[in-house]
Amino acid sequence: MQFQPLLEEIVATLQPELGAAGQVASYIPALARVPAPQFGIALRTRDGQEAHAGDSTTRFSLQSISKLFALTLGMREVGEALWDRIGREPSGNPFNSLVQLETEQGIPRNPFINAGALAVTDRLVSRFDAKAEMLSLLSTLCGDPVDFDEEVAASEASTGFRNAALANFMKSFGRIDNDVGTVLDVYFHHCAVRMSCLQLARAAGFLCRDGVHPYTGQQLLTGRQARRVNALMLTCGTYDAAGEFAFRVGLPCKSGVGGGIVAVVPDRLTLCVWSPALEPTGNSLLGMKALELFTAKTGLSVF
Ligand code: GLU
Repeated sequence: MQFQPLLEEIVATLQPELGAAGQVASYIPALARVPAPQFGIALRTRDGQEAHAGDSTTRFSLQSISKLFALTLGMREVGEALWDRIGREPSGNPFNSLVQLETEQGIPRNPFINAGALAVTDRLVSRFDAKAEMLSLLSTLCGDPVDFDEEVAASEASTGFRNAALANFMKSFGRIDNDVGTVLDVYFHHCAVRMSCLQLARAAGFLCRDGVHPYTGQQLLTGRQARRVNALMLTCGTYDAAGEFAFRVGLPCKSGVGGGIVAVVPDRLTLCVWSPALEPTGNSLLGMKALELFTAKTGLSVF
């Protein structure tokens, strides 16, 4: 399949809609001032073919997409025991909700809501320098040096009262081992990683290759673990819109409020789209439309 003309066609189709609808995330100034009329798309196939179009090399804030890579580190380092403190069900609640944690004894529903990512981060902090490890993982996965946007990390920290509440609440149930401030600092930095669509399409490549690192050939996750990450992306990866994504797009996806969405076509390719204006669900409005166009035109789907 020739992907480059297809991605260019998607960019051209969406061009008139750039910046016309949706809201850029506004809870911190560094995200609020990102210009809305931007759109990028990139993919990398299992055998290394790449295509990209639009603003595909502009770096943006990963935000919740970082939860995908934190989970990968957690599964690799902790193995099955990771699931002692984290569930695998869609939450049906906002990504930063405290409500379920009370009735479910501090065990978050899944690793892609904030409470779940904080629980994963805590396990990583017990093992290594989890900030450095995240940068090293992402840099080797995409082949470029990757860094944190320190301004975003600092604003996350100064406004992150709800994340602090979640972490303290879990700590009160004995579900967080490390110092809450340390866990939050790492979590905020993970959210503040900046990468482009092209870098992310490359970095997620192990998810369409049975867990095998796209460049080094190293087994990052087992094939079964990689399939499980994809299952969690499909059921829990797009806030409260996982049903809508399955219906309209039909691929495992992980989104972030920076406007990025990473999608996986198992055994075939990984894809990343980015456009900063969001739907009320927190997912990129044009990103979702682009994924829908892509799967409609290619017929690619997990169903
Ligand atoms: N840094 C954001 C938070 O923790 C992440 C939001 C997101 O992308 O879901 O609130």
